[in-house]
Amino acid sequence: MTDTAPALDLDRLRGATPPRNHDARTIAALTANPGCARRGVMDAAGVDKDAVSRTLGFPAPFGQSQFAITRGNVFEAQVKADGCAELLTLLRDRLGLAVPEVSYDDLEVVAGNEGRELRHARTRRLLRRALDSGEGTLYDHPLLRLEIAGQVAYLEPDVIAFQIEGRFHIVEIKSFAVIDGQAEPSQVAAAARQAAVYVLALRRLVAELGHPAERVSHEVILVCPENFSNRPTVTPVDVRPQLAVLERQLARLTRVDRIVAELPEDLSFDLAGALDEAVRAVEARYAPECMSSCEMAFFCRDEARACGATGALGRSVRDDLGGVDSIGTALALADGTLEPAADLAETAAQLRTAARLRAEALQSAGQGTAPDGAGLGSVA
Ligand code: SF4
Repeated sequence: MTDTAPALDLDRLRGATPPRNHDARTIAALTANPGCARRGVMDAAGVDKDAVSRTLGFPAPFGQSQFAITRGNVFEAQVKADGCAELLTLLRDRLGLAVPEVSYDDLEVVAGNEGRELRHARTRRLLRRALDSGEGTLYDHPLLRLEIAGQVAYLEPDVIAFQIEGRFHIVEIKSFAVIDGQAEPSQVAAAARQAAVYVLALRRLVAELGHPAERVSHEVILVCPENFSNRPTVTPVDVRPQLAVLERQLARLTRVDRIVAELPEDLSFDLAGALDEAVRAVEARYAPECMSSCEMAFFCRDEARACGATGALGRSVRDDLGGVDSIGTALALADGTLEPAADLAETAAQLRTAARLRAEALQSAGQGTAPDGAGLGSVA
C-alpha cells in the first residue's frame, strides 16, 4: 500500500464529474502555492476547479486570447516546418551545437491512431533506441507521463526532445517576443516552470529505461520570436530551481492522504451538492499570486478578505507575521489590546514598534501641515 490517499476516497471527493487530467500548465501551477491544502486535495482528486469556481459564482478568466493562440500556432508551425529546418539552423548557428546528421520523428499520431497509450509506447521505444544507440535527433510531440498523487497524467507537449551526444534537451516554443535580448520575466518564468515539468517527466522515463536521469539536461532551449518579427531566436534556460520546487511539491502531494483522512467522510466536491460548504471545509492559503495560477483564485480571495486573512495582503506579509493569521489579531497585537501567547511575543513586539513608528511619522507629518489645511490647495 502506498502513502497516497486511497483512490476510492479521491473518487468520492470528486463526485459524479469525470477526473480532470493534469497538463504541464496545471502541474507547473502546483508549485505556485505549495502550502495550500485545498488545491492539493482538489488536484489530487482530479476535481475540475474551473467548473467548481464557475458553479460557486467566481469564474476565473484564465487562458489565452484566440489571437494569442492563433499567433502561437503560426509561429510554432513555422519553426517546425520541413522537419524543424529553421530550428536546426538556430541550434547550429546560435548555440554552436555540432548537429551533423539529423533525423526527425513526429510522435503525435501513430499509424493514424491518436491513442495515448500507443503514442506513449512509441515515444518510449524511440527514446530507448536513442539512449542505447545514440540514434535519432528530434522527437516532436513526445507523449510523456508523470504520476501525480497516484494518478497518471499524460503530458501532451508541443515541445521537441532533442538528442545530441547521448543527452536530451527539451525545446519549448513560445510566442512571446524577445526584444533586444530581453523577454517579459513573468513569461520566461512560466515557460521555465512548464519546461521543468517536461524535463522531470522525461528524466523519470529515462530512469525507467535504466539510464541515469542526468541524460536529460536541466538546460532547456526556449524558442521565441525575435524583436517585432516572426524570426525565431533561441535562449538556453537553466530550470534547476524550478525542478527542485516541482519535485518537492509533487512529494508533498503524495501526503494528501493525511488531509483527506481529517475531512468529513461525506465530503464531496460534486457540482450538484453542497459545494460551497465542501470547498470551505478544506483549508486554503490564499496569496495574491493565486490570481495568476489557480482557477479558485476569485473564490479564495473573497473568502480571505471576508475573514480578514493576512494572506490576502501578500505572501511576504503573511510570512513576516508568521503565526498571525488574521488582520484583526495583528492590529490588536500592535495596539496592545491583545496579549500575545509566548510564541507570538516577538512578532507582537515588532508589530508594536511598527505601530509606534507609524504613529510618530503621522504625527510629525501632521505638524508640518498648514493649520488651515490649505497645503496642496494653496499650490494650485
Ligand atoms: S486560489 Fe485558493 S485553492 Fe487555489 S492555490 Fe490559492 S488558496 Fe489554494
